[in-house]
Amino acid sequence: MSDKYIKKATRHVNQNEDLIFERSSPGKKGYRLPPLDVPEVDYKQALGQAARADLGNMPEVSEMEIIRHFTRLSTWNYAIDLGMYPLGSCTMKYNARVNEVVARLQGLAEAHPWQPEKVSQGALRIMKILADCLLDITGMDAITLQPAAGAHGEMTGIMLIHALLKSKGNPRKKILIPDSAHGTNPATAAICGYAVENLKSNAQGMVDINALASQMNEDVAGLMLTNPNTLGIFEQEIHKIAAILHDKGGLLYMDGANMNALVGKTRPGDFGVDVMHLNLHKTFSTPHGGGGPGSGPVACKKALEPFLPKPVVMSKPDGTVGLDYDRPQSVGRVRMFFGNFGMHVRALAYIMANGPDGLRQTTEDAVLNANYIRKKLDGTYELPYKSASMHEVVFSDHLQSEKGVKTGDVAKRLIDYGFHPYTVSFPLVVHGALMIEPTESESLDELDLFIDAMQSIAREVNEDPELVKTAPHSTRVSRLDETAAARKPVLRWKP
Ligand SMILES: *Cc1c(COP(=O)(O)O)cnc(C)c1O
Repeated sequence: MSDKYIKKATRHVNQNEDLIFERSSPGKKGYRLPPLDVPEVDYKQALGQAARADLGNMPEVSEMEIIRHFTRLSTWNYAIDLGMYPLGSCTMKYNARVNEVVARLQGLAEAHPWQPEKVSQGALRIMKILADCLLDITGMDAITLQPAAGAHGEMTGIMLIHALLKSKGNPRKKILIPDSAHGTNPATAAICGYAVENLKSNAQGMVDINALASQMNEDVAGLMLTNPNTLGIFEQEIHKIAAILHDKGGLLYMDGANMNALVGKTRPGDFGVDVMHLNLHKTFSTPHGGGGPGSGPVACKKALEPFLPKPVVMSKPDGTVGLDYDRPQSVGRVRMFFGNFGMHVRALAYIMANGPDGLRQTTEDAVLNANYIRKKLDGTYELPYKSASMHEVVFSDHLQSEKGVKTGDVAKRLIDYGFHPYTVSFPLVVHGALMIEPTESESLDELDLFIDAMQSIAREVNEDPELVKTAPHSTRVSRLDETAAARKPVLRWKP
């Protein structure tokens, strides 16, 4: 092959893809409209003050140019459809195509939220059945599907706790949060007006029961707990934790983002949890991140039900499904209409495609896969907590740091091997954490490839640490200055 030919072949997927503004040339259009056949409206007059005088600098390109530009950019992305995405705490599982087929059915995709109940029975029944399934899975009494993400669910859940305690005359002041918690938990408590008090973990990586007992008092509204926690460890004394809180009138909030380790095996409602959120975009296979909006339903016990956001989907005596707006104690709406309905459809498709036995199998496979990786990489990477892992495993970069290589360097090198990095430097209780969650989606072949890559990187750390410290080497852009990117982001193109 001549060089010339290679150049042409590579240019189409080019690391130097111009900005769309740089491709602009005056007068080009990506559309063609028919001649105007209605009276022209003076938009400045029609919009008044809302009309912008300066429309800025818009790129002028043809339809073909804009299609190619964005299609080429899309090939720069890593995706779950390309390979393993071992991002711990995120449950990056396969988004089944059958979910998409169902969500695109015309009657669902084009349903309008203002259609009368009478002609929305199908959509309402989907929400009702999903709600019932999730209650069955969690062992809780009532649920709202409104919240649009996990963090949004947390906020809704803490608002319920606040509303219940306030109705009893004292909303209290503090929320306890373990040091292993996801960053959204303290942020949620703070946003809801609570002071955050840190709760220490014990040597096994679980909540220190004695510390909890001494910190729990009548100022504490509740505890926000992830179970299994962010170390992937099941809180074995969860029933005692719940009892300590309940004895002093507090409530137990469970961050249910890690339900992929529990579905079909055990139920938070049975081990003392009062209120929790689920991440449909984690456990229930709806797209995560750039792939679509999230969904964070909040399930609670009977005592909290009156405060749920309205409307609540309910079965009516005549056998139809309707929306209950008559809820005087409700915390109000947390999201327009009924939440991200398209995600409810996908999550229900996933639940029904698997069935109860399939869901249980999913949980078992997710836990098995994480433990397979743990066993194979133990010793190559340090395992700081020896307690049994559930769906994810956390190593540290202790052995690699002797060569000056950090968890972030190993993660960057993993990109050269064709994998998305694992979660870096989290949870904070482990110095230099490598947090890995394979999910049930991965085959033994893919797990072995990943393990091979991690072992190979560990060898490279010993033989040629510079190679790892300067990774990635195979990407379109080399290592970025992450501090500058976070502190001085350039979010806007200027001519
Ligand atoms: C992902 C996650 C959240 C937040 O969920 P979002 O949908 O990203 O807001 C909260 N807690 C834990 C443990 C998580 O893993």
